[in-house]
Amino acid sequence: MRDLTDRDREMYKRQIQMPDFGEEAQLKLKNSSALVSRVGGLGGPVALYLAMAGIGRILIAHSGKLTWSNLNRQILMRHDYVGRPRVDCATELFERLHPECDVVAVAEDATDETAREWVSQVDIVCDCPPSFEERYALNKACVELRKPMVEAAMYGMEGNLTTIVPGETPCLSCLVPEKPVWWETYGFPVLGAVSAALGCLAAVEAIKILTGFGENLKGQMLAYDADAMEFLKFPVQRRPDCPVCGDL
Ligand SMILES: [Zn+2]
Repeated sequence: MRDLTDRDREMYKRQIQMPDFGEEAQLKLKNSSALVSRVGGLGGPVALYLAMAGIGRILIAHSGKLTWSNLNRQILMRHDYVGRPRVDCATELFERLHPECDVVAVAEDATDETAREWVSQVDIVCDCPPSFEERYALNKACVELRKPMVEAAMYGMEGNLTTIVPGETPCLSCLVPEKPVWWETYGFPVLGAVSAALGCLAAVEAIKILTGFGENLKGQMLAYDADAMEFLKFPVQRRPDCPVCGDL
């Protein structure tokens, strides 16, 4: 258990002063860890704002090298890194911006094997990949290891956000029993400010789950339509015959 330092109290005083947050929530955050799977247009802001809020450790996972087409949305990336591994660029940024946050970077995407290993090392998962294979692998690992997962997904001008708590809320397979086919073209439309807005909401949700601060989205789906500028929140249900979480 790491205590808050005087510098922590100074750095985070503007959030510590929020009613019901206080030093207690800050201390919980400092002693918490998160996996952010993929740190692109969606996961990048999640990881950034978790680090900025004072989380103790982040495991980031993202394979591949930076391309020019990533740069309309991937806030952790820089032009001079095109052609180089994305996680190297992200790691360098965190070292400069938030050296007090312990960032561990893995240049891989989630599979059944890696997901289980990564999820076992953290308190919460932020699910931000473009591929449902990765999302299902992370969901399965979270259900098996009883870890909460903030589920954030977007397409074009729309986003969805919920929190999965195994045995308590629907899991991803309850919500999306079969893999949608849209992502397979791997070129879905995205406006950077839309994915970032959803990423910021996902970071708020993760902070709430980790600290107990405020109300959260357990059992609720937040749907965000940036085209109409509307938010809608509605309850979601578990599926008793879900092959992943049905036995819990
Ligand atoms: Zn389920």
